[in-house]
Amino acid sequence: MSDLVQIIYISRATFEPGPRENGVEPHVGRILMSSRKNNPRRRLVGVLFYGDGYFFQCIEGERSAVQALFSRISDDPRHTDIRVLSMRDIDVRSFNDWSMKYVPAAREVLEELRRFGQSRFNPYEFNEEQVERMVDLLRASADPTTGRLNGPPPRNAPADMMGLTYLAIALATLALAVSCVTLAMVMEWL
Ligand code: FAD
Repeated sequence: MSDLVQIIYISRATFEPGPRENGVEPHVGRILMSSRKNNPRRRLVGVLFYGDGYFFQCIEGERSAVQALFSRISDDPRHTDIRVLSMRDIDVRSFNDWSMKYVPAAREVLEELRRFGQSRFNPYEFNEEQVERMVDLLRASADPTTGRLNGPPPRNAPADMMGLTYLAIALATLALAVSCVTLAMVMEWL
C-alpha cells in the first residue's frame, strides 16, 4: 500500500533579490538546481512559487521522503518563518511530471491574487480555499525554466530539432567516409 503525502508550506526569503539570470532570481535558481538533482532519486515531485520575497512550495511523495526533505528545508538559512499550511495523505502524485516545477510571480498568478483582494503576494494571509486555489493555479501555470536549470525539456523543442540535425549530419559524414574508404580499397584492388 502506498503511503503518499502532500505538504504545502510557506516561508519568507532571507536573501536580498539579486539581478535575475534568465529571468530567475539566482538564489532561487540554485534551489531549483538542488531540487531537480535530489528529488528524482527520492521520487519526490512538486512545485515552488517565489514572489515578492515569499516562497510557496508543495511537495509530494512517500511520507518518510517528504518528512526528511522538509526537515532539511527547515534548516536552510535562505528562508525563515516557515509555516505548514497543509499536510495530507494523497492517492497519487499530482505534479507527476515535475521533480520541482517553478512558477514565478506571473501575470495569471497576480490576477488571481487581485481576485483574492491582494495586490502583493502574501501567503500568510491566505485562507484554506485560497491555498487550494493557489495549488490549482500552479498546476496549470507554465514553468519558464522548462528545459533549463535541469528541468524537463519542452516537447518538440527547437533544441531537440537541433540535436536531430547534428545527428543526421554526423551520420551523413560517416557514410561519406565509409564510401571513400571503400572506393579507395576497390581502386587499389583494380
Ligand atoms: P547542494 O544543493 O549541493 O548544496 C550544498 C550545501 O550548501 C547545502 O547544505 C545547502 O543548504 C547549502 N547552500 C547552497 N546554496 C546556499 C546559499 N545560497 N545559502 C546558504 N546555503 C546554501 N532541496 C531539495 O533537494 N529539494 C527541494 O524540493 C528543495 N526545496 C527547497 C525550497 C526552498 C524554499 C529552499 C530554501 C530550499 C529548498 N531545497 C530543496 C534546498 C534544501 O534546503 C537543501 O539546501 C538541499 O536539499 C541540499 O542539497 P545537497 O545536499 O545536494 O546540497
